[in-house]
Amino acid sequence: MTGKIYEYKDDQDWYVGNWQGHNFIVGMGEIAAHDLLPGFSSIVEGELEPYSEEAWNQGGYDVHIIRYSSMFRLVTFIVEIINENMNRNIEVLQRQGAILVAEDGRLLYVHVPKGGVVLQDFLGQEKVRDTLLIATRNEGKTAEFRKMFDKLGLDVENLNDYPDLPDVAETGMTFEENARLKAETIAKLTGKMVLADDSGLKVDVLGGLPGVWSARFAGNNATDAENNAKLRHELAMVFDKKNRSAQFHTTLVVASPDRDSLVVEADWEGYIAFEPKGENGFGYDSLFLIGESEQTAAELSLEEKNEQSHRAKAVKKLVEVFPAWQSKPSL
Ligand code: IMP
Repeated sequence: MTGKIYEYKDDQDWYVGNWQGHNFIVGMGEIAAHDLLPGFSSIVEGELEPYSEEAWNQGGYDVHIIRYSSMFRLVTFIVEIINENMNRNIEVLQRQGAILVAEDGRLLYVHVPKGGVVLQDFLGQEKVRDTLLIATRNEGKTAEFRKMFDKLGLDVENLNDYPDLPDVAETGMTFEENARLKAETIAKLTGKMVLADDSGLKVDVLGGLPGVWSARFAGNNATDAENNAKLRHELAMVFDKKNRSAQFHTTLVVASPDRDSLVVEADWEGYIAFEPKGENGFGYDSLFLIGESEQTAAELSLEEKNEQSHRAKAVKKLVEVFPAWQSKPSL
């Protein structure tokens, strides 16, 4: 603490400040200063607990308002004190009547005048919510993702909204390579934030096959029935259930042109049955015994499957880590 006294004075505004352990704004006379800038002190406190010893030792602004007319002037005054004492690089901007406090390209604080500002004018764009483009033409898959991402305040669209985009070939050797290829290529082409998934069945005794080749295990354009027949054939000599362990796997990748991609993955454990069972689902569901049970995935209703499947688990993980990823500084 330098003990230095700061002062700003003109016809309408007059402030005096110094640097102590407080983060206080004190008004004189009619001015109720304590609720002028609620939450502003977090700019100084950062991760420190407010009113803690560490916060106190670090110091804080202590500002007395003698005359007051301009919030922009007041915030600028306080920020100058913070910058000097904390060696910070904070700047104060005005936009559509709101005051923005930013540092190194990151928005730290927004003060909105009474009555608010027009959101679309403020953001300078027609659409206010962010959009996530799902790299699929499948409306069922899109609907599932829409349900999850609506809770995070995002609008969801899919490739049917972009009929001119080329198909991205899944040429990768791993689930992650394929999901990245789709998400990152489409993010580059559209400039949008894009989510892509890649899923498949991994059978341990087959060294993880069919894996990324799940959809075309029995050849290009193979049907589910042909793929299932091929799988049963490959396991025909594996008589012990415990040697028929398998997992459904999903990798999800979210790509955005301005940041490193976010990757999450999940497995659904089980065994490959000797005989198919159940009428629901798709792909290898009728051959997949869930966990240690004797029930196949094709015996679950869609709702039951959506509560426990590899895709459901991966989406749950994604929703947990997505907000922190989205708020990370861009490249
Ligand atoms: P996709 O990456 O979601 O298109 O899945 C590729 C292939 O993996 C599908 O064509 C299916 O053969 C298989 N697969 C993925 N998820 C499942 C599932 O939940 N049940 C059954 N088969 C699946």
